[in-house]
Amino acid sequence: MTDLRITRRRFVQVSSAAAALALTGTGGCGMKGSDRAVKIVVIGGGAAGLGVSSRLVRLMKKAQITLIDPADRQFYQPGFTLIGSGVYRPDQVWRRQSDCIPHGVKWVKQAVTALEPAKNTVTVSGGAVYPYDFLVLTPGIQCNWEAVEGLSQKTLGEGNVHSIYDFEGAQKTWRAIQAFVEKGGRGVFADTYTKHKCGGAPKKICLLTEHLSRKRGTRDSLKFDYFTASKALYDVPFFTPRLEQIYKERSVSVTTHTRVKGVDTAAKKVHFLRTETVKKEVPDPQTGEMKTVEASVATPFAEDYDFLHLAPPQSAPDFVRQAGLGWTEGKLAADAWVMVDKQTLVHKTFANIVSLGDATGVPTSKTSAAARKQIPVAVRNLVSLVEGRAPEAVYDGYAACPIVTDYGHVLMAEFDYDKKPRISFPLSLFDMSTESRLAWLLKVYALKPLYFHGMIPGYW
Ligand SMILES: Cc1cc2nc3c(=O)[nH]c(=O)nc-3n(C[C@H](O)[C@H](O)[C@H](O)COP(=O)(O)OP(=O)(O)OC[C@H]3O[C@@H](n4cnc5c(N)ncnc54)[C@H](O)[C@@H]3O)c2cc1C
Repeated sequence: MTDLRITRRRFVQVSSAAAALALTGTGGCGMKGSDRAVKIVVIGGGAAGLGVSSRLVRLMKKAQITLIDPADRQFYQPGFTLIGSGVYRPDQVWRRQSDCIPHGVKWVKQAVTALEPAKNTVTVSGGAVYPYDFLVLTPGIQCNWEAVEGLSQKTLGEGNVHSIYDFEGAQKTWRAIQAFVEKGGRGVFADTYTKHKCGGAPKKICLLTEHLSRKRGTRDSLKFDYFTASKALYDVPFFTPRLEQIYKERSVSVTTHTRVKGVDTAAKKVHFLRTETVKKEVPDPQTGEMKTVEASVATPFAEDYDFLHLAPPQSAPDFVRQAGLGWTEGKLAADAWVMVDKQTLVHKTFANIVSLGDATGVPTSKTSAAARKQIPVAVRNLVSLVEGRAPEAVYDGYAACPIVTDYGHVLMAEFDYDKKPRISFPLSLFDMSTESRLAWLLKVYALKPLYFHGMIPGYW
C-alpha cells in the first residue's frame, strides 16, 4: 500500500497552490462573451447548472438568464459516501440554494414538468410557461427506487436495506453500518444495471465498512459480498488491477453480470438476476440454414443478507424522455440520456440546446468531476451558438472517481473517453495506479470547498 508521507500542513500548501493555478487557469478568463440580448433558460441548478449560470452571467451581460430548480438546498453529493461512513456530519455537505444562485440570474423555484423543444418553451409545476432562445439542460439524474421490487425511497432502512444515493439514506446507512459491524453477519453490496452517478460509490461504501470492522476488531464475525451488474469490478484498465487486488486481499467476493431485481425486507432476502450471453443455433429466416446467434439469458436467484447496500436504477428525468430529447438508439437510449454530440455537448437535433452533467448522454462516468470539465466547453459553445458561429470547444470525456479504499486512502481514478489515465497536477507527480494518503486528504479536505467556492461560482 503506497503511503506518501505528507503532513496535513504540507498537503494544504500543495493543494492551495494547485487550486490557485486551477482557479486562474479555467475560470472563464480570456473567454469571449456576447452582447446579444437573448433569453437563456437553465433547467437544474446543481453542480453543472450553477457552474454554467455563474459563467454565463459574467460573459453575457445583456442576456436574460433564468434558472429553474425547486430545491431549497444545494448538496455536495460526493459527501454522501462520507456521511454513510461517519467521516462527515450531514450538515457539512449542503448550503442554502438561495446562497448559491449567482447574482443577475432569475431563479424560478419550481420543477419543470414539460419541455417543448420545437416551440422553445418550458412549463413548470405551477403552470407558468417560460420561452427561451437557448436552453441549458442540467436536471441531473432521476433515481428510480421503485424499479427494484419491494423498495421505495421512503422505505429505505426497512429490513436493513440502505443506500447512500439519498441524503437521509446516507445517514441511516451510517447508523446501520455501525450496528452491523458490532453484531456481525453477512453484508451484501450491489451496484445497478443502468448508468449511475459515481460508479465507484457502491464499491467505496463496501470497502469502508470492511475497514471499519477491522478497526473495531470484529472482521472475523462478518462476511462481505459485492455484486456488480457489469462484466468487471471496474473498467478503466489503469486502475482496475489494484482495485481487484484490494477486494481479494480484503476477502470481499465479487460476482459480475448480476443485478438486483427485488428485495424481501421481511425475510431479509435479496433477489438477483444473473445475465449470461449464450450461443444458440437458429434457422436463418431467408435461407433456412442453421446459424449461430448470441442471446442473453437471465437466471434468477436469491441470497440472504443481514445488511444490504444498493444503488437504485437511474435515468434522465421523465420530462426529458417525454420531450423526445433522449437518445433514440444505442446503449444510452433505454434511460433517455440527452442526445448530445459527445465533444461539443450540443443537442444533435436542436442546435439551441446544450446539455451537461449527469443527465447528458455521453459515454463517460457521471461525476461532478466530469461536469467541472464540461462546464467551460458548454459555455464556450453556447456563446458561439448565440453569436451564430459553429461550436468549437471540445470535451474529451474527462471524469474522476476518488475510490475510497479505507479510512485514510483513496485510489484516485481520473480518465477520459478512451479510458486512458488523465492524472491532474500535482497528483501526476506520484504513482496514482494505487491508493494514496494524498488523494484521501484531497477527497476529505479539499474537494468540498473547491466545489462550493470554486466550481459552483464558476472559477474552477
Ligand atoms: C453517493 C454519491 C457519491 C458521489 N461521489 C462522487 C465523487 O466522489 N466524485 C464526483 O465527482 N462525483 C460524485 N458523485 C456524483 C455527483 O454528485 C454528480 O455527478 C453531480 O452532482 C452531477 O451534477 P448535475 O448538475 O448534473 O446534477 P445535480 O448536482 O444532481 O443537480 C441537478 C439539479 O437539477 C434539479 N432538478 C431535478 N429535476 C428538475 C426539474 N424537473 N426541474 C428543475 N430542476 C430539476 C435538482 O433539484 C438539482 O438541483 C456522487 C454522487 C452520489 C449520489
